[in-house]
Amino acid sequence: DAAINRIAAGEVVERPASAVKELVENAIDAGARRIVVEIADGGKTLIRVADDGCGIAPEDLPLALSRHATSKIDGSDLLDIHTFGFRGEALPSLGAVGRLTIASRAEGGEAAEIAVSGGVMAAVKPCARETGTTVTLRDLFFATPARLKFLRTDRAEAQAVGEIVRRLAMAEPAVGFTLRDVSGGGEGRVTFRADPVTGDLFDALRGRLGQVMGREFTENAVAVDATREGIRLTGFAGLPTYSRGSAVAQHLFVNGRPVKDRMLLGALRGAYQDFLSRDRHPAVALFVDCDPRAVDVNVHPAKSEVRFREAGIVRGLIVSGLRHALAEAGH
Ligand code: ADP
Ligand code: MG
Repeated sequence: DAAINRIAAGEVVERPASAVKELVENAIDAGARRIVVEIADGGKTLIRVADDGCGIAPEDLPLALSRHATSKIDGSDLLDIHTFGFRGEALPSLGAVGRLTIASRAEGGEAAEIAVSGGVMAAVKPCARETGTTVTLRDLFFATPARLKFLRTDRAEAQAVGEIVRRLAMAEPAVGFTLRDVSGGGEGRVTFRADPVTGDLFDALRGRLGQVMGREFTENAVAVDATREGIRLTGFAGLPTYSRGSAVAQHLFVNGRPVKDRMLLGALRGAYQDFLSRDRHPAVALFVDCDPRAVDVNVHPAKSEVRFREAGIVRGLIVSGLRHALAEAGH
């Protein structure tokens, strides 16, 4: 079983940033309002994600570490997914390739912790903490030295962690995020912080995007809000006058998940093609929301591709939605 978990882990966890993504998504799924991520040495020696979400009851801790145990769907409808997680694979995978500890307390319950190292689970022990969960992952890939060799420098891995935390933060304005680098011990250094932003959808989103992408972007962007056949497009799109040479600032989300999807990027090019030359790229943060059944996110656990049932409708929505918003702004 430990060997199977190590193989599965390779699918889910490629590097520290993918471990951080799984843990932060779990915190979001748990309804957290504040999420604190700490890493040391690019996440290679330490990743810690603490949340104030719903927590896990002591008797459910071993279950959280069992393969294919998920509290999020009953297994009857893999197509109707409203949470990030649904495979029950991340924690057992992380416990197979690193030293994992979960300390948690569910509202009104007892606090407890469990440790698993290289796939070997220890007994549940009581601990002291408030409601929420802290997952600590030390020595990622110590059990699979071959994987360790594929990791990049601490700096490069830390940067990848920063990118994933920022991207997840964009889609959750009401949740506060702190990323701290604790290499060398102590309190460490805050490398990213986004306090919770409230208000209506667009106010909150504008505030959060300002925190993550910078005020310069939000001040040079138009709000987009369009719907077609039950599929909604919202977000902010950069003015053609505020375009960049590189495509790094194109952030696309489907049902709250960051994606890098060829079809969506192609639609974006189509929407701007009358305004921009080929080598200029608009900065955007766009969110496509639809019935989970209308999109397949079940392609690969670690990849960010999606497959829409009605790709033509989504493409048309993006092209017309953006053009309409730009036209309203006088472009
Ligand atoms: P999945 O997210 O696909 O369900 P995971 O392996 O990531 O699988 O997590 C297994 C289970 O552990 C989850 O279904 C959830 O019940 C519990 N869990 C994990 N992280 C948290 C957290 N931060 N807060 C509350 N429960 C959690
Ligand atoms: Mg999960």
